[in-house]
Amino acid sequence: MNSATRIITIANQKGGVGKTTTAINLATALAAIGERVLIIDLDPQGNASTGLGIDRRDRTLSSYDVLVGEASIAEAAMQTAVPHLSIVPSTLDLLGVEMEISGLPDRALRLRNALRTAPEGEGRFSYVLVDCPPSLNLLTINAMAAADSVLVPLQCEFFALEGLSQLLETVEQVRAGINPGLTIQGIVLTMFDGRNNLANQVVDDVRAHMGEAVYQTVIPRNVRVSEAPSHGKPAILYDLKCTGSQAYLQLASEVIRRERRLRAA
Ligand code: ADP
Ligand code: MG
Repeated sequence: MNSATRIITIANQKGGVGKTTTAINLATALAAIGERVLIIDLDPQGNASTGLGIDRRDRTLSSYDVLVGEASIAEAAMQTAVPHLSIVPSTLDLLGVEMEISGLPDRALRLRNALRTAPEGEGRFSYVLVDCPPSLNLLTINAMAAADSVLVPLQCEFFALEGLSQLLETVEQVRAGINPGLTIQGIVLTMFDGRNNLANQVVDDVRAHMGEAVYQTVIPRNVRVSEAPSHGKPAILYDLKCTGSQAYLQLASEVIRRERRLRAA
């Protein structure tokens, strides 16, 4: 990847908070304005790959092959149906990858090294988004070690803030050790239901605790967003006008503004 590539890792050790939905729709929004975007699917579940319509049988090379050193990013990347958007898909092989790489001295740097050793001509992505598994395991550490910044989706529910300190602590440890340049891109509140008083309270609480880190954009709970993956499409292509898609477009513009600031810093 060339130095203009921005690598954003989407992480939260809780499952079902909107990591994959955010990865897919943010990537699509960035691709729609002409950026060349790559998603790296680091979840053995492969929801990002499925949600982008990549059939399991077509996943000849995957993020597993990249991590074990059997494929380059360029070899494993597949073009999706979304123009300018590619994905390194995942397969269930990823479940065993920790065991395979845990004995290697560069076990936490496998993804970073794969991204860095991409020859110049392949540094054609302006954004790389890494979709993490719901765990603070070696895969997520690899994603944080490779990234410029971490984007954290938080579901608008009572326990939203629970677990966040552990996540931020992990970011801190990665920063203190293997990746001093790592920053927090931001925290995005997801699946907001305005009819629910509790949800409003959660938004206020998270803003009070996390301040500027929280994006202005809140992603609403929206049935169109949840339907889209079963059609193998990002919500933004499935139904551009729905409130969820519109929110993701807005989030993308906030992310771009922050990236410009971070890049300049
Ligand atoms: P994670 O990757 O953190 O496990 P997902 O992005 O897969 O979370 O989201 C979990 C579930 O919630 C999925 O079924 C997804 O379609 C649904 N979902 C995510 N965001 C929304 C939303 N804004 N509105 C409705 N459903 C959503
Ligand atoms: Mg996911």
